[in-house]
Amino acid sequence: MKKSNLLVRALKDSCPNCGEGKVFLPSTGLFKLPEMLEKCEKCSYRFDREPGYFIGALYISYGLAVLQGILAFFTCYFFFPSMSTFWQVVCVVAVLIVFAKKNYKLARILYIHLFPW
Ligand SMILES: [Zn+2]
Repeated sequence: MKKSNLLVRALKDSCPNCGEGKVFLPSTGLFKLPEMLEKCEKCSYRFDREPGYFIGALYISYGLAVLQGILAFFTCYFFFPSMSTFWQVVCVVAVLIVFAKKNYKLARILYIHLFPW
């Protein structure tokens, strides 16, 4: 599998093995954490391998959050130069909150794609 396919599959929430099944159930609530399926519905590939496996995904999630925070800060800094520091911090925190669920899902999906069985 090419690296570009891996990234496309990860962004599409697809199984790392077959690329057809979904990794997460469809989102149901605004404040509810996304639910991960135990196995792929198409090829029965197990996503959750052992307790604590997804601790490594925290590092990916952290990296994504830092990247989004930096982008939000520079967007505020360059596009709204008269904005006070307080509102810049509010803007960065708001971006982090808005993308928290997406980061959670994307970090886990990228992790299982980077470290397959
Ligand atoms: Zn699959």
